Amino acid sequence: MERYANIIIDISQEKLDKTFQYSIPEELQGKLKVGMRVQVPFGNGGRMISGFVVSLSGDPEIDPARIKPVAAIDEQAIVIESQLIALAYWMHKNYGATINQALKTVLPVKEKKTAKIRRKLVLTADEITARTYLIDFDKRRCTAKARLLRNLIAQKWVYYDVAIKEYNSNPALIKEFKEKNLIREEHERIFRNPVQKQELPAYDLELNDSQKAVVAAIQQNAASDRKPCLIHGVTGSGKTEVYMELIAGAIQEGKQAIVLIPEISLTFQTVNRFASRFGNRVTVLHSKMSPGERYDQYERARDGEVDVIIGPRSALFTPFSNLGYIIIDEEQEGSYKSETLPKYHARETAIERARMAGATVVMGSATPSIESYYRAKQGEYLLLHMPHRVKERPMPMCYPVDMREEFARRNFSVFSEQLRKLIWGRLRLGQQVMLFINRRGLASFVVCRDCGYVVKCPNCDVPLKTHLNGIRTCHYCGYVEKDTRICPQCGSGHLSFMKGGTERLEQLTQEAFPDARILRLDADTAKTKEQYENILSAFGKGEANILIGTQMIVKGHDFKGVTLMGILAADLSLYTSDYHAAERTFQLLTQAAGRTGRGASGGEVVIQTYNPDHYSIRCAGAQDYESFYEEEIFYRQMMHYPPVWHMLLILVYAPRKDEAGETAEQIAAQIAGMKVEGLQTIGPTDAILSRLHGLSRKVIYLKHADYQTLVDIKDKVEHTMEQNAKKCRATVQFDFDPMNEY
Ligand code: ADP
Ligand code: ZN
Ligand code: ZN
Repeated sequence: MERYANIIIDISQEKLDKTFQYSIPEELQGKLKVGMRVQVPFGNGGRMISGFVVSLSGDPEIDPARIKPVAAIDEQAIVIESQLIALAYWMHKNYGATINQALKTVLPVKEKKTAKIRRKLVLTADEITARTYLIDFDKRRCTAKARLLRNLIAQKWVYYDVAIKEYNSNPALIKEFKEKNLIREEHERIFRNPVQKQELPAYDLELNDSQKAVVAAIQQNAASDRKPCLIHGVTGSGKTEVYMELIAGAIQEGKQAIVLIPEISLTFQTVNRFASRFGNRVTVLHSKMSPGERYDQYERARDGEVDVIIGPRSALFTPFSNLGYIIIDEEQEGSYKSETLPKYHARETAIERARMAGATVVMGSATPSIESYYRAKQGEYLLLHMPHRVKERPMPMCYPVDMREEFARRNFSVFSEQLRKLIWGRLRLGQQVMLFINRRGLASFVVCRDCGYVVKCPNCDVPLKTHLNGIRTCHYCGYVEKDTRICPQCGSGHLSFMKGGTERLEQLTQEAFPDARILRLDADTAKTKEQYENILSAFGKGEANILIGTQMIVKGHDFKGVTLMGILAADLSLYTSDYHAAERTFQLLTQAAGRTGRGASGGEVVIQTYNPDHYSIRCAGAQDYESFYEEEIFYRQMMHYPPVWHMLLILVYAPRKDEAGETAEQIAAQIAGMKVEGLQTIGPTDAILSRLHGLSRKVIYLKHADYQTLVDIKDKVEHTMEQNAKKCRATVQFDFDPMNEY
């Protein structure tokens, strides 16, 4: 008999991050289930507070006399499946957040919001009584009453609004019916469906051989090993059709699917493709939805009204009961890593959820993350290739342009000669051009305009950041040097900041091509999803010749009219100070190149760079993922970076700088005291954002070949922090294999 419930108290405080035991009063026996939210008395005052039931047990852990009973089940809260609770536990253990934070993540909508309701009038009188009334109404020529009653007899119930509008009833009449006990009013909950109904083209498409082979391999694997699958397929190779085919098969077996898509490519276009195949069995989640709307979608999923949910990271926690597939499109995207606690990665978490649910994870990308490709090569994932575009559409031609040579030829413009000529050609032919300015990590790094040399840390091989006080520093190891303008490589005095902005580029483009109609897409012009879609759709309709933009323009849009892509400052993303720089550069350039030539007329790409020989740029130009991977994994191996090794970032912050510093030193000392073999420790140093929200921030980076070793270190540090919680004003956060700069 399960008389006790272990409950997590709903207060986000580390020291309360454990379970408390409560007894189950008789009236709740059998009703109280794992995953429910309950009201319990807490603390000396016995104040009522809410908590989650995480497990039930038969035995008391402490003196039963001291155990208080659960006060009530919180009917307003939804029940999370025990699987999702188990997942929250796993996240808590693997990513270092409180159980509470983890639970709140798997439970994104905490409370039922009042759903939209439709009033219904239900016939309660038996048929003889009703017909007697009807004869009477007809005799007395009460047409409105007779009409409503006749419809009620025929249909058993009618909607209130239909009764009023179509049968010309009125509230007084309805009240009279109720008083005569003819009808009763009921409320029907209407779930909001965010997928707009519209005429969709019928789905008729036959998979090609390459797609069929991939589908067959994944299905076979889903029925046996159930390894995560990674599809490496160039843009336009037909991956989305493969996902849909897999999902269709799963639905036939009574299973459901979650499709994760980076928020930025979650467009009307994408959703419609799924809707045209799966009709109203598809739904979507996105960040612009209200909590009520999101809740509705979870509810529809749980009730079996939909089979497919499309959404960003958080859609991973949709309460489907018989999950078949979790699809992760563009699996390399940084947005799959949470920036708030728990700092989980959707890929790893999906794999864990799939393992629990007996489902299969299918990842797809034209440029898989180094991490996933490495795992696939190690045999952990099933690797599948789709190297050709559908219908033998050609891949675009890429031309790298060395901007140092342009500079030497006294061309100081942002456009190389070649790009300028090609743009003129497109304008003459009435074809469209996209200009992509790679602004990612537009930080204050320093490059030589003559030879392309970038000032880097001698220890860590990442670019140094320049500060206003005339020094340059490395944020991994704290290395400091003086900021000079003399290039150490060629001796010229042309070391300078890289600068660039879309607005400036728009002006320059207009000056260079006065008759061109230009649209610009960046964080300023597209503040809302609507503005973003409007600009893209205007360009899609041919309302402009040139679209200028940041990364926003390179993600997942098909413009059949675009035959030229100009990539300006291709190198900028090389100089963020973290180890993903080359990978991100390669990904962005490849994606940008993939935007052209989607139509029948093929495409060309110009890559302007100061580093034509850097492997990320060279390989992107040649559209050669394999070679890029080989070079990059060699670098990661050599520098002991993930995925070959693992990294744990410990962020320490406190109101005062000395408090953060002192705690960081103590943690570093504790870790040194553990004498972990093969551990590399970097720091403590100031974080890049050394002060944020009024807090001083210090970072420690740990590197080790074994992930679990880092988890163990985290646990010990966490434990010490808990014990010192009273005296210490600093807070600690952990991030495994970090993807962001701190
Ligand atoms: P990816 O997701 O790899 O970029 P898509 O699935 O979006 O590729 O396919 C690219 C384009 O080719 C889409 O317009 C799609 O409708 C079309 N397509 C995909 N597979 C086929 C096929 N077997 N026959 C005809 N057209 C296809
Ligand atoms: Zn130089
Ligand atoms: Zn360094």
